[in-house]
Amino acid sequence: MSEENGTSDTCTPTHEQNPYGRSIVFLGRERSPAFVTESTRLPARLTPGQVLVKVELATICGSDLHTLNGTRTTSQPCVLGHEGSGLVIASAREGLREGQRVTWGVCASCNKCLHCSIGLENKCKTLQKCGHTVVSAAPLFGTYSTHVLCPPGTPVVPLPPALTPTLAAPINCALATMVNALSKVPPSPPLGQPGASVALVQGAGMLGLYASTLLKEAGFSKVFCVDVNRVRLTRVVDFGAIPVHPDQEEEVIPAGSVDVVFEVCGNKEVVSQGVRVLREGGTYVLVGLVCPSDAHLPVTALVLKCLTVVGVHNYTAKHLHQAVTFMERHHDRYPFASLVGLVYPLSDFRCAVEAARSGQFFRVGVNPQQ
Ligand SMILES: [Zn+2]
Ligand SMILES: [Zn+2]
Repeated sequence: MSEENGTSDTCTPTHEQNPYGRSIVFLGRERSPAFVTESTRLPARLTPGQVLVKVELATICGSDLHTLNGTRTTSQPCVLGHEGSGLVIASAREGLREGQRVTWGVCASCNKCLHCSIGLENKCKTLQKCGHTVVSAAPLFGTYSTHVLCPPGTPVVPLPPALTPTLAAPINCALATMVNALSKVPPSPPLGQPGASVALVQGAGMLGLYASTLLKEAGFSKVFCVDVNRVRLTRVVDFGAIPVHPDQEEEVIPAGSVDVVFEVCGNKEVVSQGVRVLREGGTYVLVGLVCPSDAHLPVTALVLKCLTVVGVHNYTAKHLHQAVTFMERHHDRYPFASLVGLVYPLSDFRCAVEAARSGQFFRVGVNPQQ
């Protein structure tokens, strides 16, 4: 809570040379064009708790593609984008100062309501989300923008120098979400004991690769990662996991042999496989099934195997801090930097979206300062 308290004085930003920010504003799929570039005057003074950041790099998350494709709804008009990092150029928050490189949470929470009080700040009753909030409520709260104005209640976390923009930008969605997923995993018996330390990750996208490294570093002796995309599967080994194509899944992973399953692919068809491989008392963490779907849960198997099923959506400040620490500690052990493919200037946002849609890259970057 203390870092969310604003300083008593408001703060004057040092951006008088160029008092305008440029942002990609989503108008809705039914509009043509669906998004436009707009200029917004930067605030002359910040109110307590606000932090103004100059964005150094944004990355295009799959959920933004869902918005642009119409498979996810969002408030309009809004500045899109939620993954990113940048430089503080003005702060009205204690503990944060101009010149610090930071990342910030996707959720701005009140820290007072029932959900906030039980540790679900990501489900705050007055939640504002970066990249999802109508501009009249939170202007400049999206990362496809030269600037992000973090509202009070947004976790803002300083970045260590080792975390370059390509390492840092995806932390505040994909990695922090998987840190939250890992927090749902109960302590497993020590290595070498029966039933310990085997995990399955369903999906070899950005979430799946981060999940693999988190599970390995948490002590899992074996992490399987399954995906239909054979090209993606070739990258899995570099991130500590054993690649498995669905064609071989039943042969390679026996029923009842896995302690923990993470679903991060968003495909409801994988649920029955997840339940099959879990041992009695195992844990199934569902993360990717965010688009409307009538996924069938095999409830009898859940009961008879005494399984725990947990849903995870976004994360809280604590998970974002842990994600930054994890990346600082392990960025030399895994090729995280290679996950961001091409980087486009903000003026080429349309091309950046096309590149992201091609599926050739785990992430495509947008440099808002170009
Ligand atoms: Zn995301
Ligand atoms: Zn709240």
